[in-house]
Amino acid sequence: MRIGVLGLQGDYEEHIYLLKKAMGKKGVSGEVIPVKDRSVLRRLSGIVIPGGESTVIGRLIERSGMTEELREMISQGLPTLGTCAGAILMAKRVRDRVVGEVTQPLLSVMSIGVVRNAFGRQRESFETEVDVEGVGRIRAVFIRAPAIVEIWGNARSLSSIEAPDLGRISILAVEGNMIASAFHPEISGETALHEMFIDIIKK
Ligand code: GLN
Repeated sequence: MRIGVLGLQGDYEEHIYLLKKAMGKKGVSGEVIPVKDRSVLRRLSGIVIPGGESTVIGRLIERSGMTEELREMISQGLPTLGTCAGAILMAKRVRDRVVGEVTQPLLSVMSIGVVRNAFGRQRESFETEVDVEGVGRIRAVFIRAPAIVEIWGNARSLSSIEAPDLGRISILAVEGNMIASAFHPEISGETALHEMFIDIIKK
């Protein structure tokens, strides 16, 4: 398999490292490549959209002319894992905890609604253990993370936590070929979500 990691901005190097580790663990052969332009898109078996700054990544996706093609490929079944900013870019509904309505460019492919920067100033960054359905307990790093506050259609939540103001919110959702995570498995070094992603590719 050939997995691409969108390499325009954000922590894509960490994803490349962890994907290779997850492939090794699962005994899967293949390569992991950074995706910087359209040229490789059609040859991918799956794509990861990393954490970073969703406004910046969204603009860079547009500038590189990938928006339509990526949206179409993901909608037609390309396995996709988005973490943090990546999950924001995948969501069909996005608002910001402070400013509300956002106008940033999005891929809008997944039936989830997210609130950007949902955890407020005191808890901008934190690390905790979370329970993930089908996986068990893993360490999760949250950095100015979004909360998944709406899930509809075929999407469903695999993990949730208590958030200040918002109550119980989802932090991990799946829908067919797509996984959206509010936290960063690539930073805590957890391969569980990458393994789940590889399983989707293998199907
Ligand atoms: N707050 C960032 C955003 O809205 C996401 C942060 C992250 O990816 N760590 O894009």
